[in-house]
Amino acid sequence: MTAFICVTCGTQFTEGADPPARCPICEDERQWVRWDGQAWTTPAELAASHRLEMRDDAGVLGCGISPCFAIGQRALLAETPHGNVLWDCTSMVSDEAVAEIDRRGGLSAIAISHPHFYAAMVDWSRAFGGVPIHIHEAERQWVMRPDPAVRFWNGERLALNASLTLVRCGGHFEGGQVLHWKRPGGNALLAGDIVQVTPTRRWVSFMYSYPNHIPLNARKVRGIEAALAGLDFDDIYGGWWDNNVIGDGRRVFERSVARYLAAITD
Ligand SMILES: [Zn+2]
Ligand SMILES: [Zn+2]
Repeated sequence: MTAFICVTCGTQFTEGADPPARCPICEDERQWVRWDGQAWTTPAELAASHRLEMRDDAGVLGCGISPCFAIGQRALLAETPHGNVLWDCTSMVSDEAVAEIDRRGGLSAIAISHPHFYAAMVDWSRAFGGVPIHIHEAERQWVMRPDPAVRFWNGERLALNASLTLVRCGGHFEGGQVLHWKRPGGNALLAGDIVQVTPTRRWVSFMYSYPNHIPLNARKVRGIEAALAGLDFDDIYGGWWDNNVIGDGRRVFERSVARYLAAITD
């Protein structure tokens, strides 16, 4: 029995003797299926051809697969005095990563922005004794490997500890969430691609589908703005390596909402 992984989106599926017939996440209009058809890999194949790179990303420990695999995101370790949380996820875990996270105080939970980054979340949870994986209730249908560790939450905000709060923003996905982090050196927003940091790293943007270039409508962008009302943050960490707004994050967010709304208004 193998927990197969979709090579296009990096999602790991429930164990089976054969690969699943299809990947619903890639068949959704926000993703895509390869021209030559659906393809799969296994944890063993991935471990033989790739490694999990761990390094500092603007002051936060990041984990990402090298060479780039599937969507190419990197996860972050939000280290707090009340416990560490893995933000977003990758399609492989390594002994080296587990040892490094244990050295930093272990892991108390996992939280993931949206289904494109669920990856090997169950393998990650099991590597740390089955820590909870916090996902918004609205994304229940996109969990391809159900597990007792997956905890669905309802509502608009969920405090994970005194420093970390999940905020349901919606947008790209109905249950799309970001993680607000109160830090002594300046608060941060770990945003995945719910709030997408652009290449200039001084603006953010929003999309319903990134690969298929389907914009988010004004009502949904205003919904993200409303979800983040009253939260201060200096830095915005995007979903990929070095894809971060460092400093002045709140103002960058506000002016980017205004720019986006102007761009889609007739
Ligand atoms: Zn897929
Ligand atoms: Zn996405």
